[in-house]
Parts: sequence; structure tokens; C-alpha cells
Amino acid sequence: MKYIICAFLTCSLLIASGCSDRTASNDELEQQQSTQQISQDIDEDTTEDFADAPAEFEGGVVKHDEDETADDNIHAAQTDTADDTDDTDDSADTANEEKADEKQVSAVQFDDSFLMLVNSTHPLAEGYTPELAYVQGEYRVDKRILQVSQQMIADARKDGVELLVCSAYRPVESQTRLFNNKVNEWMSVGKSKDEAVALTSALIAVPGTSEHHTGLALDIVTPSYQSLDEGFAKTSAFAWLDKHAADYGFIMRYPADKTDITKIDYESWHYRYVGVEAAREIKAGGLCLEEYLGEIS
Ligand SMILES: [Zn+2]
Repeated sequence: MKYIICAFLTCSLLIASGCSDRTASNDELEQQQSTQQISQDIDEDTTEDFADAPAEFEGGVVKHDEDETADDNIHAAQTDTADDTDDTDDSADTANEEKADEKQVSAVQFDDSFLMLVNSTHPLAEGYTPELAYVQGEYRVDKRILQVSQQMIADARKDGVELLVCSAYRPVESQTRLFNNKVNEWMSVGKSKDEAVALTSALIAVPGTSEHHTGLALDIVTPSYQSLDEGFAKTSAFAWLDKHAADYGFIMRYPADKTDITKIDYESWHYRYVGVEAAREIKAGGLCLEEYLGEIS
């Protein structure tokens, strides 16, 4: 709560429930209609120039289609998504699909920081600042995952799926501004400061506790469906990510059945880089990151 003590900013930035950092309840649905605005505002706040230093990648390549059978098993539950490019084993195009799935994923030199836990009880280490590079448009990620992130986007496109990044790295300062503006918004309609802080905390991560600070998190939608809500899980983009993201080292960070642990609502659009090995284990085990790391409070 110390962040709230910071001077409130006076800009009239429109705030609403933001991706990945909220635990919005149904009675706050009116906030959600401006979700896109939040995302835009967040990123408009982060337009500092950063050199596009070349990503550092080492090692060979990892072929990720060798376990097609296991992969299908992992995703057996994925039966009702509106995907028209995956799971076509029973189609006449099987051969073509298998060929299309032969993706060579660049290996990323593993670093322990890829498994850092940032949540409401594990704030970002003070002073931690990733080196950044632009991944898509104005959005930046930790430069160590730039290449693999862009490759995932490119490979999805080859499969006819457009992945649209709508949020990525978010500095603590931006989160503070967002948070404080939202507090002000609540106070302007008559809430006490304590009430305003409590209401805001349910929607927006307390500054320092958003995974977006790490540069390892991406919010991904698709041009035809850009709403940050459960509808994204019915898109072909989600189906593609559900099937392939782990092979690039990404996990869907906030699963629907883990909200009691993550303390974050189901966010089918929020992907976190943890490395291929961990991502595959987390996916196969039906875990969330807290469980994988043994950090369940
Ligand atoms: Zn997010």
C-alpha cells in the first residue's frame, strides 16, 4: 500500500480493469468495457526509446513436433474452441498439417530469471530492469525472448493464425500511475481512500506485483477478437497458443482452474515465458507457475 502514498497524478487517464492484473468481480463489469483503453493507456505510457539490441541466443534448434501424440493428449480437453487449423488428424490434410507443424524453434539460453515469480506476495525485486526490445509495434519484451516471441508469432501466421500483442513490458512507474489514477477515480465518486484502494486492488495489480514488469509476459489477442475476456478462449488464436505456446517456452499464466492459487482471474490472453522445459512440464502437469515452483501460499 505504500505506493498509494505516492503523490496522485492529476492526468485524467481513463482507467478500467486491465489485463493480467485484475480480479474483477461481476459487479464491476462496467469497468471492463474500457479494458482496451487501459491497455492502450498503459502502453502509451511506455513509449521511451530503447535500442533494439540484437537478442542473444545460443544453442541449436529444438524440433517441437516430435511429440504430436502427447501434444494431442495434453490438449484433449480443447474440443470446443473455434479453431479450424489444429487437430485435423482425421482430415484429408493431415500430411499438410504435419508439414506445417514442423517448426524449428530457436533455443534460448536458459536463465534462472525466466522462472521468477511475481505476484501479489512476491513483488518484483527492487531495481530489476530487463533489457528490452520491441517485439511487435510499440510493445517491448525482455530482449532475451525477443527472437522466440517473434518466431512464435511468425509460425502462427504460417498456420493462418494472427497473434496480436496488446500489452507486454510495463514499468512499475506506469503501474503506479494507473493504480493511483484508478484510486482517484473511485474517490471522485465518493469512496474513501481505503475503499478506493481496496476497489482498485481488485482490478489492477499493486505496482511492483504485475508480471508485466518482468518483460517476460505478453498479452496476446487476435485482430478479429481483441477483447480481454473469456471469449478469446474460443478463438483460433487461443487454440493455436494452447497447442503450441509451451514449445516456445510460454505458459498461459492464469488458468481458469487455478484462480484460488494465482489470485488472478482466468486470463486466456496472458502468456509468460518460463523456458521450454518448464513450460512443457507445467502444461503437461496441468500446473500453474506457483505450483511448479512450490510457492503456494
Ligand atoms: Zn497480462
